[in-house]
Amino acid sequence: MKLIRVMCSGRVDLEFVLRAFSNGMDGVMIGGCRLNECNYVTHGNYDALNMVLLCQKIMEHIGLNPERLRIEFMSAGEGLLLAEVINDFGKKVEALGPLGKSDEIDENELKSKIEEVRKLAPYIKIVKREKLASRLEKEEDYEGLFTREEIEALFRDVISYYIDPEKCQACMICARQCPVDAIMGAKKQIHVIDQEKCIKCGTCFEVCPPRFGAVKEISGEPVPPPIPEEKRTIIGKSKKAGLASEP
Ligand code: SF4
Ligand code: SF4
Repeated sequence: MKLIRVMCSGRVDLEFVLRAFSNGMDGVMIGGCRLNECNYVTHGNYDALNMVLLCQKIMEHIGLNPERLRIEFMSAGEGLLLAEVINDFGKKVEALGPLGKSDEIDENELKSKIEEVRKLAPYIKIVKREKLASRLEKEEDYEGLFTREEIEALFRDVISYYIDPEKCQACMICARQCPVDAIMGAKKQIHVIDQEKCIKCGTCFEVCPPRFGAVKEISGEPVPPPIPEEKRTIIGKSKKAGLASEP
């Protein structure tokens, strides 16, 4: 067992859980303060609960037993309860066996599926931000917070971002604000998105000036390949006119 201390269960990101599974952990348990007994004003334990419910549905979607992820709430004074739930979870995980084995997925296939979801974690958090921040009144309401159909649609309708070379004016705003340096371009050079690096955060779509409107959202169809580097240079209007008047 490996214990990782955080100041609030709300700090445990979806990506952390996926990373643990990607690194071969057989189970992940998150311990948080009792609901409505948060030490801060943030009630991050609700965020943790919502994240776990979402992650369990994603696990189901990729063929991983959702029982490998658990969240338990208790107060700092309930050491015995902590020991009990850890023992219980340990037994459960032991019974499930090594990751992927009881789930009947090939190790490599599982790894690539987890990596695929990890890459989409920022996108998933943006798309599901309202539900992830919700605080429902009754415990039973949490049962259907995320549905299987919803998760299927989430992965089916993934949005990709593409820069229309006809519209890009090389203002460089998107490249400066991309959090993962996925946009390649320079002054007077049409910008292109490296789809391998892009985490689909949508920032470029938001910041591209409306008068250019060069960034497009694409869903359900392949993203066009980037234009070759030698065709990316933007020629100014005056130069174009000059070129046209040359004999
Ligand atoms: S959506 Fe745009 S800003 Fe966000 S990672 Fe992809 S290229 Fe960068
Ligand atoms: S913000 Fe829009 S116009 Fe400016 S470089 Fe990016 S895609 Fe091109």
